This record gives sequence, structure tokens and C-alpha cells, in this order.
Amino acid sequence: MSIRAIRCGTLFDGVATTPLRDAMVVVDGNRITAVGPADRTPAPAGAEALDLTNRFVMPGLVDCHSHASIVPGLGDQLGQLCRGPVPQALAATANLRADLAAGTTTMRIMGEEHFLDIEVRDAIEAGVIVGPRLLVAGRGLAANNGHGRALASYDGVDEVRRGARENLRRGANHVKIFVTGGVSSPGAMSTSSAYTREEIRAAVEEAHRAGTYAAAHAHGGAGLRLAVEEGVGTIEHGLLAGDEDVALMIERRVWLICTFSIFMHPTGIEQGDGQRPVIMDKVRWARRVVDETFPRHLASGIRFACGTDSMHGLMPIELETLVRFGVSPRDALLAGTRWGAEACRVDDQVGTLVPGKRADLLAIDGDPLKDIRALRCVSLVMKDGVPYDGVFGRNGR
Ligand SMILES: [Zn+2]
Repeated sequence: MSIRAIRCGTLFDGVATTPLRDAMVVVDGNRITAVGPADRTPAPAGAEALDLTNRFVMPGLVDCHSHASIVPGLGDQLGQLCRGPVPQALAATANLRADLAAGTTTMRIMGEEHFLDIEVRDAIEAGVIVGPRLLVAGRGLAANNGHGRALASYDGVDEVRRGARENLRRGANHVKIFVTGGVSSPGAMSTSSAYTREEIRAAVEEAHRAGTYAAAHAHGGAGLRLAVEEGVGTIEHGLLAGDEDVALMIERRVWLICTFSIFMHPTGIEQGDGQRPVIMDKVRWARRVVDETFPRHLASGIRFACGTDSMHGLMPIELETLVRFGVSPRDALLAGTRWGAEACRVDDQVGTLVPGKRADLLAIDGDPLKDIRALRCVSLVMKDGVPYDGVFGRNGR
């Protein structure tokens, strides 16, 4: 494994309160071994020099909620999940390459069929395809009449346990359970729970007994609160969360995973299912609700991080949206890196640039602390000490 001495114009390490000018990051193999001012951090003998003196260097992005195989702009997301494993694997290969090219080095997958995410995670790890490091759920647990149901449903405490256990046996990193309704399926967006308290508890228990946690798809209201009361680690989306829901999440230290671009960006649900009035009405309504409530929620002290929910390569848009809702650019960068790593429970490995952690970093043209849109201009992505600057082709894809 090679040793690299990376000279950085500006370093945002995810820890210091102000960025460091003229910094050095030393990488040995896949780990960071030293970080500091360039004049006091010597390059080890034989190190390969990497000159990023005109760049802003920061930790790789952590996308806390995505699906490898889905492209929302193609419409009918659950229908996409139900395709055969070969088209799904091919779609995932292209999508994850785009994610890595845009700066996502760690990504949490929140439900796939065919245990595709487990195979894809291992293929990336083995170097067969390129993509972010994946943390995977296997199949999402959905009720027969609930949102998120693809090829199978899990009903009753025993089936929920069996579903969770099968995912964990096959190598899932966490458990995903669909609690409330969703935006991209027709019908009113229910905030009541499709699952009973006992069923949610079973999913959480199985996750905990396997040394991990459960993540709940929940938009707000009674369903969200039930999931929080039963001990899930993260609430996904939370678009309809009220002040009471947020207060309970703060009290229980539950993470809110924001997913904005899928319903706000024109290439998301709007492009895929926007011709269906029942869906488009819901999208417009969700945009209005979130514009009104999220500036308040994000300033409430709740712990939050971001996910693209399959909008591959659009983590920068998620962080731009945080800033539009009043979050400081520094906190937006933290939400996209360190806080995401904490929410996904991999902060001992990634999320900040400190000695001992994996060498996942980005070089940006411009300064995202001054203008968050600079994040759209990623000129180099390094994951596990390996730079990916040439493999993406001319347009970065
Ligand atoms: Zn999702």
C-alpha cells in the first residue's frame, strides 16, 4: 500500500471550528496517519505527493438514505424494485458510480429486493465495481397494506422477526422498517402506523440483539412517535413532523434523516411520476409543508443528517437545501459528513479527517463555506486512500 502526502490549500477536517490553510494530510494505505499545518507535518520518506494547494479538502460525503437500483426520474419506484436481479444490478452499478463521482464515499442503502445491496456492497469492497462504501438493509420490512411494499410483506410479530433475521443472516448492517405512508405512492399520506407497536418492537429488538439498530420510514404524527418510543435509531424523511414529534426525537436522541431532492428537484418524483395528478398534488403539498416547518425543525437542536433517497449524485443539492432553510454552510458540511457518519454509526471509521480514520476525502474547486454550491465542483474523490479522478470519464459520470 502506498503512502501519500496530500498538500491542501484549505482543510475542513470536520472537527476544528475554522478551516486550516496550507495543510498536510498523510495517508498510509487506506488510513489517515497525520493531519496538520504543512510546515509542521513532514511528508514521510518515499511518500507520493498529491498537490491540492488550490483546492478545498474535506471528508467524503455520507449519504444516509439511498437505494442503489432506483432512479426516481424513471417513475414507479416500487415497480423498479420489482424488476429482475440483472437489470437491478446493472442499474445499481451505474448509479453508484455517479454517487462516488459526486463525492459520496459512504452510503446507507434503505431497502432492495433480491439481497442485491449485500452483493453490491461486497462487489465494491472486492474492487469488482466502483462505488461508495455501502451499509445495507437487505429487504425493507413493509406491511401488506403499507407503503414501501415491493415483492414481499411481513405481517405479524413472527414474520417481522423472520424478515429481520433473514436480512441479518445474509449480512445486513441494519434493519429498515416502513411505518407511515409515503410521497411517491398514491393516496393520502398517512401518518398513522401500518405496523402495531409489537411489530415495530420486534424489528427493533432483532436489530439490537444482532448488535445494530432499526431505521424507520416515518413522515410524522402517531406513526413517527410510535417508532421513536419503540427505540428506532433514525427517522427517515419526517416531512410531516410536527413540533411535538421533533421534541420527542430530541428527548430520545433520535436522528432525523432529511431527504429533500427526491420531491423538490425537478428530476425527482416530479419527472418520474409528475404526470399523475394524485402524485404531483402530494409533491407540491409536501414542498409547501417543508418550506414552512423545516427552518424551525433544523434550528430546534434535533440531530440531523442527509440522504438523497436514490437521487444519485445529488448530495450537494441536499446540503444546499439545508442552507436555504437557514443552516450555516459549516453545519451543512457537518450534516453531510461527520453527523451522517454518527447517524449511521460509522463515525469511528469515517466522517472526519483525523489520524486513524479511513482516507475518504474530496477536493473541491471553490469554498463551500462561502458558497455551498461549490460542492457541485468535486475535482477529486479519494476513498480508502484510492483517488478516483480518472475513472469517471470526461463528465464525471
Ligand atoms: Zn427511501
